[in-house]
Amino acid sequence: MLSRKALSISPSPTLAIDALAKKLKAEGVDVIGFGAGEPDFDTPVHIREAAVRALEEGYTRYTPASGLPELQQAICKKLLADNGLTYTPAQIVVSNGAKHSLTNVFAALLNPGDEVIIPAPFWVSYPEIVRLNDGVPVIVETSRQSRFKVTVDQLAAALTPRTRAIIINSPSNPTGQIYTRDELAAIAGFAVANGLYVISDEIYEKLIYGSEEHVSIAALGREIYHLTVVVNGVSKTYAMTGWRIGYTASSPEIARVMGNVQSHATSNPNAMAQKAAVAALEGPQDCVEAMKKAFAIRRDYMVEQINAIPGLSCVEPAGAFYVFMDVSGTFGRHYRGRLIGSSDEFAALFLENEKVAVVPGTGFGAPDYVRLSYALSLPQIEKGLSRLKNFAGEIR
Ligand SMILES: *Cc1c(COP(=O)(O)O)cnc(C)c1O
Repeated sequence: MLSRKALSISPSPTLAIDALAKKLKAEGVDVIGFGAGEPDFDTPVHIREAAVRALEEGYTRYTPASGLPELQQAICKKLLADNGLTYTPAQIVVSNGAKHSLTNVFAALLNPGDEVIIPAPFWVSYPEIVRLNDGVPVIVETSRQSRFKVTVDQLAAALTPRTRAIIINSPSNPTGQIYTRDELAAIAGFAVANGLYVISDEIYEKLIYGSEEHVSIAALGREIYHLTVVVNGVSKTYAMTGWRIGYTASSPEIARVMGNVQSHATSNPNAMAQKAAVAALEGPQDCVEAMKKAFAIRRDYMVEQINAIPGLSCVEPAGAFYVFMDVSGTFGRHYRGRLIGSSDEFAALFLENEKVAVVPGTGFGAPDYVRLSYALSLPQIEKGLSRLKNFAGEIR
């Protein structure tokens, strides 16, 4: 008998779809994969060169468990410059990707049965990471009317004596929506009044396409600063998903506990990847602008095309690199005689017949939707959306 807890964890549906699309591609099938959860760009050259230099300079050994002091410093500098947040290196824990950072956060914060409020749609890993650390995910549904953002009234309705923390992800994966300063201030007030931690996943902060600004909730006052754990990393901003560098900024006490946990679980994150992350944070930022520009063009194209297809629609994503498409208009109808009853079936039929991979919303707590990434080239996107039009055109 294996661990009941481990057995209850479902595999990441986004990684599964992506793996399936890649497998079909390897078999020679002309698949368009909208499943990707990572930038399609190569890591910028100056960052790769920094890693090569690090290798040559002998960064091939253990580093301190919570990260190289040099990287912790660079992160402190970034948080001050970009987010108006003051931290000392002792408050920074560098981990093997932001996903690992989140694992450390809940290992440090939760006792068995503690509840964590997760607004839906949510990033697929949040509930599973909470459960892996003996917590209880409490899902709070948001609506398209509120642009998928949770309100204080909804949080209040979910509050129990066991509530420990709230997860806020802005810009959001999968919806691309961004919380305003006022919305965050209201949530901060609620968290402070109830002594709740806020886990603020800010991994997409640099990928914002309109006039919205990214605000870190930790910057909205002394009290919320102490209750917030900021989670961020280099994966999405610098096209560095494979390097596995993420980090947290928190109170010194939480940082110390997370560092202790990490020191036994994985020791330090990869040494040369840490040096590359220093180069990413301290080097020229025009590479980010270039990637952002490409994402913006793709986003505009996708939103316009999708909203022109009868039965399908989406809210314009303000950030990240996903379009969250409402497919509920197809439910109860048929594609070539086969009933579409759910977004899972929509996605399966679309892949089977048109060879296009999208991620069903079920794993994001939003069964009326599917997620399409725009981290693929514009010609690929054009081809994929023309197949989408064909597919939708045959639904009766
Ligand atoms: C990609 C992603 C992460 C994790 O990124 P890492 O590659 O582990 O650094 C965390 N949160 C969200 C919302 C993401 O989309």
